[in-house]
Amino acid sequence: MNGSTPYKEQVLNHDGLLALPVSLREALWRAAAHAQLNAYAPYSRFQVGAAVLDDRGQIHAGCNVENAAYPQGVCAEAGALSAMVLAGGRRLHAVLVLGDGEAWVTPCGGCRQKIREFAHPQVPVLLADRQGLRGVLTLEALLPHSFGPEHLSQTI
Ligand SMILES: [Zn+2]
Repeated sequence: MNGSTPYKEQVLNHDGLLALPVSLREALWRAAAHAQLNAYAPYSRFQVGAAVLDDRGQIHAGCNVENAAYPQGVCAEAGALSAMVLAGGRRLHAVLVLGDGEAWVTPCGGCRQKIREFAHPQVPVLLADRQGLRGVLTLEALLPHSFGPEHLSQTI
């Protein structure tokens, strides 16, 4: 995936898109598309890239990393969140997940909770493939009535 690859948006719904400018949507897509190319998925052959936009405007990407001991594999979203935290980010404003196939590639249940740790329920989760953006959902739609940091008495 390089800078000349055209970016398309064929989004039929706009739930949770908020005011995320198209330039940021494309930047998230390019970061996730590049990450997907580096995914390590020799077992499933299902490469996923993810990118998160933090509250300072920085984008952090991740890819899935499988393991011969299957449960030890790591999702792309988890990699992107680790990169954000490493860089000092603590809140995210958008997530983009990119994978191949007919169906939207959405974050797994575990990753929905991982995203929730750093995101307001109305944060948009953008769903994409190698051609561009395909759909948008809020985190609330993916993880309704969620448990988050505010449920604990300690402040973070
Ligand atoms: Zn996951």
